[in-house]
Parts: sequence; structure tokens; C-alpha cells
Amino acid sequence: MLQYDTLQQESLNPYEIVQEQIEKAAALLNLSREAVEILKKPKRVLSVNFPVKMDDGSVRVFEGYRSQHIDALGPTKGGIRFHPDVNLDEVKALSMWMSFKCGVVELPYGGGKGGVICDPHTFSEGELERISRGFMEAISDFVGPNKDIPAPDVYTNAKIMGWMMDTYSRLKGEVSPGVITGKPIILGGSLGRNEATARGCVVTIIEALKQKGKEPTNATVAIQGFGNAGRIAAELLHELGAKIVAISDSKVALYAEEGINLPKAIQAKDIGTLSELEAVTKINHAELLELDVDILIPAALENVITAENADRIKAEIIAEAANGPTTPAADLVLRENGKLVIPDILSNAGGVTVSYFEWVQNLMNYYWTEKEVNDRLNHVMVRSYHNVSRLAEQYQTDMRTAAYMLSLLRITEAMKARGWCN
Ligand code: NAD
Repeated sequence: MLQYDTLQQESLNPYEIVQEQIEKAAALLNLSREAVEILKKPKRVLSVNFPVKMDDGSVRVFEGYRSQHIDALGPTKGGIRFHPDVNLDEVKALSMWMSFKCGVVELPYGGGKGGVICDPHTFSEGELERISRGFMEAISDFVGPNKDIPAPDVYTNAKIMGWMMDTYSRLKGEVSPGVITGKPIILGGSLGRNEATARGCVVTIIEALKQKGKEPTNATVAIQGFGNAGRIAAELLHELGAKIVAISDSKVALYAEEGINLPKAIQAKDIGTLSELEAVTKINHAELLELDVDILIPAALENVITAENADRIKAEIIAEAANGPTTPAADLVLRENGKLVIPDILSNAGGVTVSYFEWVQNLMNYYWTEKEVNDRLNHVMVRSYHNVSRLAEQYQTDMRTAAYMLSLLRITEAMKARGWCN
């Protein structure tokens, strides 16, 4: 019987969701109340307002935030997003999720996150550069290679990371590539970073299939979102012989029983829109999630699998490439229905893992080949998948709760070793 008050009143506030997830995993681990209280809030949050000269000569003041959840295991790490909906609760929650993501894959980091309230689509390149540099200047005493290491997130990219690294380095009077990851390769970015999230996600899917005695060959796959994560996951699974039967982007959702022609889909997306693709049936966005496939990969948005549609999800394996696609209430339904959910903090941790590799290479000033990066990523993802799976088995719980438990065990062990709590 489902007992969860969120089934009646589903909270979509990410800060409340993450606190709920911490409580749930902490209860199973019998963590002390003091440890839970430390974990439920970020250690430090910075709010900044900074002026930027616009192309027309006017000055606009932008508001941004940086949240550092916990630094028990090492410096904090996490993206910077530029979006009109950025708000403090979201930034805090995202920094907390980053702690748990880093913990699952055993990176020596805590979680961080930042954002600037703005719509980057409305700016010229020059304005975007001045906003990026202005934000970095405003947070420059708060971040650093041994303090807090940002990365790209929604509507920020390698170019922006390059500007930010340059600003920080100039302010500190020394070259500091390790202050930020996701940089252009020429500035110390890592080979393999661009594909890392999708590659890590696919590794976890292969391990999940193996556990079920299955191979990726001919497995059917539906993917929501055809951007960095979704599109590269589609390509990698296609190479392994899986059949990608449905894909979508913000404009259209497409289905082909015999499998989507991926090279053609990529070509169509590159030159404009997926709508031009031939030999496919247009379906609605909601339908894609409910298709009778072996694997569903939500790789676009938050809160797309909710109490409302969870009962209609037919896929046996749901690999969360996106952050937060499943609400806690939907989780309960999926579990009751015997679905295997590979949670976001595990499934999409390949990105932060290769960001960590980038930082390590920056600190060493010695760079790895793409194969070395991919091999190391593969090792981390396989190990982490099975660590989570074993814990889920041991505690008779779902993979998400087990992933949080694994992280919490690591973080609280470090907190205790530092003498922060009992
Ligand atoms: P992206 O911007 O490259 O791609 C997002 C895709 O989703 C686009 O194709 C867009 O058209 C599509 N989309 C938007 N609204 C949609 C809708 N209503 N229905 C279907 N598709 C829709 O972003 P990305 O980097 O691929 O990130 C996707 C998700 O993965 C996000 O939740 C992000 O936080 C998460 N993630 C990404 C990385 C990474 O390294 N890229 C790492 C960790 C987590």
C-alpha cells in the first residue's frame, strides 16, 4: 500500500524534494539527528548583484547565486546556469544533489551550484561575455581550485567557462585552469567530457540489462530530449545494436517501430528540426514516456514522471539522464510496479566524473588520451552501479534510496572524521 503524503499533495519544490530524500535515506541508515540537520541545508550561500554595461550604453544589474552544500569530502563542485527561472531554493537544492552525485561515484568533492537570473538568448555575444566575466568577478573570492569549482549547466557552455577561467586567472595573477571545468580543450578541457554524461548513462544501462540477463542488442529505447545527453546516448546505444524507437525535442516527438534512422535524425536536427524526418510517426510528448519499450531515458526536463502518469510507464528500465525527472510520489508507483529506476545521481554522474578528471589533469598539468578518459569513466560507472545495486539488495530498497544511502555513508563518515558530528 502506498503511504506517502506527496501522493495527495505532490511538492515540486526541489529544495523540499531533496530534503525529503535525505530524511528517507538517513532514517534507513539510522543517522544521528545532528548529522541530518547539517546535511539538510547548504553550508554557505552567496547572493550577488553586479552591474553590466549593455551594447546600447545602458547598465543593467544582474542577480546571481552560488551555493556550497558541504565540503567534508573536498572542495565543492557544480554547474552555473543562466536562466530566467533561477532562484535561491533551486540553486540550493541543485548544490545538494551535486553532493550526493559526487558521493555515489566516490569523487573527493562536495556539491555546489550557481546561477544568474537572465535570459541568455536575448544578449549579444559581447553582453554574454561581460555577464559571464561580471559573475565570476563577483564570486571570485568564494570559488577556487581548492574551494569550489564551477562547470557548465543550463544555457552555459565551454566558451563561457573559458571567459570565466580567464577572469579568475587575471584577478589572481596566475593561470588557474583548475578553477572551472567544461572548458575548451585548448584551455585545459578534457577529451571525452562532451560525451561523458551520455556515456556514463549507457554504461549503467548495460549493467542493468546484464542483471536482467539481457543484451543491448535489439533492446527497444525511447528517449525524451535530443540534446547533449539524449542524442549521444542514442548514438552510443545504436552502436551497441539497440533499437531507438522514439525520440523527442521541445518541438516534436517521433516514433518508428522498426527504429529511428539515427544518422538522418542527427542530420535533421543539425540543419533545423526533427520534424523534417521521414518514415516516422508523430506522437505527443506524453505518449513517448508511456511507450512499451525496454528502456526509457528521460534526458530533458525535471518532473516529467509524476504521480499522474507513473502508473502508465511501461519501460522495464528507466535511466535518468536528466536531473530530477521523477517525483518522489512517482518513484513509489514505479517501485510498486517493479520498474528499475537508475537514479539521476548515478545515471548522469558521468559528466561530473569527467569534470573531476579534467580538474585532476589541470592540477597535474598532464593530459590523458580520450581512451584513457573513457576507460577510467567506464571503471567508475560500473563500480558505482554495482555498489548502489548491492546496497539496494541489502536494504531491500530502490536504487535511488540506495544511491542516497551510499553517498550519505561517505559524507557522514568524513563529517565524523572531521569531528563535526557523532
Ligand atoms: P540540452 O539543452 O543539450 O538538451 C535538452 C534537450 O531537451 C533538447 O533537445 C531540447 O529540445 C529537449 N527538450 C526541451 N523540452 C522538451 C520537452 N518538453 N520534451 C522533449 N524534449 C524537450 O541539455 P543536456 O545537456 O542534454 O541536458 C539534459 C538533461 O540532462 C538536463 O536535465 C541536465 O541537467 C541533465 N544533465 C546533463 C549533463 C551534461 O553533461 N550535459 C550532466 C548531468 C545532467
